[in-house]
Amino acid sequence: MPIRSQTSSAPETGPMGSPAGTSTRRRTLAAALALGAGLALATPFTAGTAVAASTTCLNGALTYDHNDAEAGTRKPLVTERSRNSNWELWGRKAAAGQVERLSGGLTSATDGGFSACYTGTTAPRDVHVRFFSSAGDLWRVVGAGTAKPGGPNWKNETQYTFTTATQSTPAATTNLGTVKVPRSMQQAWKITDTLNQLYWKRGTASRCWTAHQTSTCDPLTVAWRQDGSSGGFWDHPSFPGDTSDGTDWVVLKADDPDSKHLILHEAGHWLQWQLHNKQWPPVYDCSGHSLDKGASAACGWTEGFANAVAAYALGDTRYVFSTGDSYDLLDQRVVGSWGKGDWVEGRVAAALIELWGPNGPDGGNWNRTVALMNRYVSSDFKQYFTQHRPLTGLSTTGAAKTIINRNTIVY
Ligand SMILES: [Zn+2]
Repeated sequence: MPIRSQTSSAPETGPMGSPAGTSTRRRTLAAALALGAGLALATPFTAGTAVAASTTCLNGALTYDHNDAEAGTRKPLVTERSRNSNWELWGRKAAAGQVERLSGGLTSATDGGFSACYTGTTAPRDVHVRFFSSAGDLWRVVGAGTAKPGGPNWKNETQYTFTTATQSTPAATTNLGTVKVPRSMQQAWKITDTLNQLYWKRGTASRCWTAHQTSTCDPLTVAWRQDGSSGGFWDHPSFPGDTSDGTDWVVLKADDPDSKHLILHEAGHWLQWQLHNKQWPPVYDCSGHSLDKGASAACGWTEGFANAVAAYALGDTRYVFSTGDSYDLLDQRVVGSWGKGDWVEGRVAAALIELWGPNGPDGGNWNRTVALMNRYVSSDFKQYFTQHRPLTGLSTTGAAKTIINRNTIVY
């Protein structure tokens, strides 16, 4: 939860629109068909040496197991489909050739399916699929290898990867069935998969994370290691007085990723910085912050926003800790005893969740706040609400006022 460069770098105490991958299989097939047609056209009958194209596909679905903190403190082990994650097909184009990359793509955005195909003059040999903990060029999970996040040389950019068993002479269509991410690295794919839920709601027509970029996108990098010594923060790149490495990475450790809310909270800090085109409100003291009490107005705003990002992305109104403990931020029976006002991140989060909610005054989503944040860097919730919302045509009266008042914020 903290921003690393703040006075406290203590870990969290508790706490592709419809992406390209949907039609991976269809596109690959279409490409294969187009290639076949092209060859036919380019090879006149008179040539007498027509080359037959051979297509070989390894098909399957990528899944991962994870301990589900969102399901409660028992954290049941559940299996999910790994959506929009990178794969590459490797093999030899000929029996005597080198093992090389034959093709690449994304698993399906809906069910994690993949169809890793290669079309050549002869069927490939010694073929396998390699999977990576990344989604196109938009986000990646790094930390594989020897460097530990928080330790020496922790800026380890190596993605997690594994391969399927090698098929020496695969049939034209080989079904690998369900491919499961190895247990030791399953959290990396949980992070990769979970970030889809923020990406799909990013609220811009750009394929990048924000409207500030349209073609070459800044990727979100998450560093995670099961044996990481520090984690649960976003490493602000250029915070005043910052003495950290300033990577702009989200850093997670061990079982932090058991909570999707935690993953998305930290991603939410990175997203706010991106929405502001790499600016950040002056937040000087967030030490000891927690959902129910405030450290400063700026802390309540940035942490409250990150909490709201997590709930909004997941379509709920909660914050869930990696232990599986959780709060419904709108449940006044539970949070009624919390501190009051806009220093309290839980209050700010609840207000934002309601403003963006399906029946809220902002049109049923956060898109207009995203547009606001593209233009203005609010230093706290008060400036966001009283000054910047009016400048972008968002309401501060009626239902909007009722919502903030209900969450103990009064201006
Ligand atoms: Zn935070």
